Amino acid sequence: MNTSAFKTSQAALLRAARLGGIHPDAVRHLEQPKRIFEFTIPLKMDDGRIDFFTAYRVHYSDALGQVKDGTRIVPDLDLDVIKALGFWMTIKHAVADIPAGGGKGGIRADPAKLSEREFEALIRAYIRKLPMKGEWVDVPGADIGTSGKAMAWMLDELEEIRGFHSPAAINDKPAEVGGSILSREATGTGAYFVVREMMRDMHMTDSARVAVQGFGNVGRVVAELLHEDGCKIIAVADITGGVCNSDGLDIQALGAHVDSTHAIKGFGGCDIGVSEVLEAECDILIPAAVQSVITEKNAGRVKAKLVAECANGPITSEGERILEENGVVVLPDVLTNCGGAIVCSFERTQGLSDDYWDKDTVLRKLEDRMVSAYCRTRDTALEHVQSMRDAAWIYALKKIERAMIARGWI
Ligand code: NAD
Repeated sequence: MNTSAFKTSQAALLRAARLGGIHPDAVRHLEQPKRIFEFTIPLKMDDGRIDFFTAYRVHYSDALGQVKDGTRIVPDLDLDVIKALGFWMTIKHAVADIPAGGGKGGIRADPAKLSEREFEALIRAYIRKLPMKGEWVDVPGADIGTSGKAMAWMLDELEEIRGFHSPAAINDKPAEVGGSILSREATGTGAYFVVREMMRDMHMTDSARVAVQGFGNVGRVVAELLHEDGCKIIAVADITGGVCNSDGLDIQALGAHVDSTHAIKGFGGCDIGVSEVLEAECDILIPAAVQSVITEKNAGRVKAKLVAECANGPITSEGERILEENGVVVLPDVLTNCGGAIVCSFERTQGLSDDYWDKDTVLRKLEDRMVSAYCRTRDTALEHVQSMRDAAWIYALKKIERAMIARGWI
């Protein structure tokens, strides 16, 4: 994602607001975050020097409830991206009917260059210095650079400050301290539920051919679940390369290979390029790696009838226009990959009630939420005769607009 991420998010807002007839004052509220915190964390390094790290937290909109979402720790972190991600989270929560707003935060640092002690001290300082936090205000979760371990440190520090346990105040923590079962697989599993519904509506059979770019937390889970249903996963690529087999790849064997080598490259069989996978002869294409991989340059060569966006923003607007002209249906990221946001909201609910659910319960509730979100989006699309992306955004904006009216903001 580059520095225009926020502009991109605003363009989507303006388009959907125009198509959906959203109140201009609701749009004005959403043209900037409600709050931005920027602070400096001085950190005593192992060699005795003091280093200074810039940190952010954006509360984009809390019209629907407390803000929630990840904490990104990367060396090139910039506020533009944090604002965009906070806004997208606001939309995802609304699409999924989660009573929460969107937030995002992070620290400009390279975790790989910090010792474990330095990293832990940085994480603890972040939550200590965050001006507004807690289960009814802002619930930080993990993102790039933060794992369950980091979130457990954050929780521990917050509980030390408060003097009482607060499992609902931090997300993506390990199950041992109140984290949710299924959190790693949540987004991929949610995406699978949505793809399955769309396949039914498009009258695709269970033996549909699928190509997947990205074989991590998200892409691998979707591929495995579709494979279990009988779909043929005919091409998969990660950053190291790709493999293909028109009769369908052995996904379990591929998973075992990736577990042991951390790369698809070397699996054997027919090789396919990392970008070539996007143009494979298939029914369903799942971009689950990075943003902006389908552009005006390659969209015309996409053979799939359905593209399910599992990564954030894998299709540029020019690319999408070409797909639309060619009759390719797109399942938008704000719908397809909102399973992680849903399971995070479950995590907070469980923390608030101290009633922790088993895997079947989490799965059943996730499926209900994803299928409902899909049906609402499809119905909005049918009503307005628009794309699933426009429909998802319009549904979300109308929901936020109603909350703003009820609160007397507009
Ligand atoms: P991951 O790091 O577990 O896996 C990423 C995969 O993409 C890996 O297989 C990697 O090799 C591959 N990859 C990376 N760069 C690539 C490139 N340039 N070309 C081809 N393949 C490349 O990440 P993840 O958690 O699976 O997330 C995947 C995408 O989904 C990201 O865009 C992420 O922002 C988005 N997303 C993830 C979640 C979540 O809960 N994990 C939620 C919403 C959105």
